[in-house]
Amino acid sequence: MLTKKRVLVLFLLILMVSVIHSNAVNAYQLLGFKWSNPNPVTYYLNGNANTNNAFLSSINNWNNALPSNVSLQRVYNNFNVYAYDWYDSTDGRDGLFVISDGEVYIALNRYHTDNYSSLKRQSVAGHEIGHSLGLDEEDSAICIMISNTFNRWELLQIYKPKTDDINGINALY
Ligand SMILES: [Zn+2]
Repeated sequence: MLTKKRVLVLFLLILMVSVIHSNAVNAYQLLGFKWSNPNPVTYYLNGNANTNNAFLSSINNWNNALPSNVSLQRVYNNFNVYAYDWYDSTDGRDGLFVISDGEVYIALNRYHTDNYSSLKRQSVAGHEIGHSLGLDEEDSAICIMISNTFNRWELLQIYKPKTDDINGINALY
């Protein structure tokens, strides 16, 4: 039998998901930069095996969804994006995206991601790759650009780009 508390929690969950769904059309946000030649955008992977596998799988996930004028490629020199990992128990972030002096960096915080499943790690890597293509956080659509990993993965099991993400890419490129 459902208790009142459980009914309330269920109601709030349904409300939350329906609010997310209701804004799902073209909700993407853009960061304000784009690659002049996005075919391909190249990535140098310099994390541990789990991190590199997460980025590599996410590159494939994105390539399977991207329009034909945008592609991602792993390279070993002359890269556009430097993908790595760091370890900081005091940093609540499990991933980051930084542009500094025209260089683009994405990374996973292994303090968190060491304990993640392969797909959860892809959820973070895929999100950071979305930033590296020019997409900003988007918390009102079903998309890889949902900022919080609990909402994106635990609640919605999103680990690869969705229609809203690709709509953003099509608007940008
Ligand atoms: Zn983000």
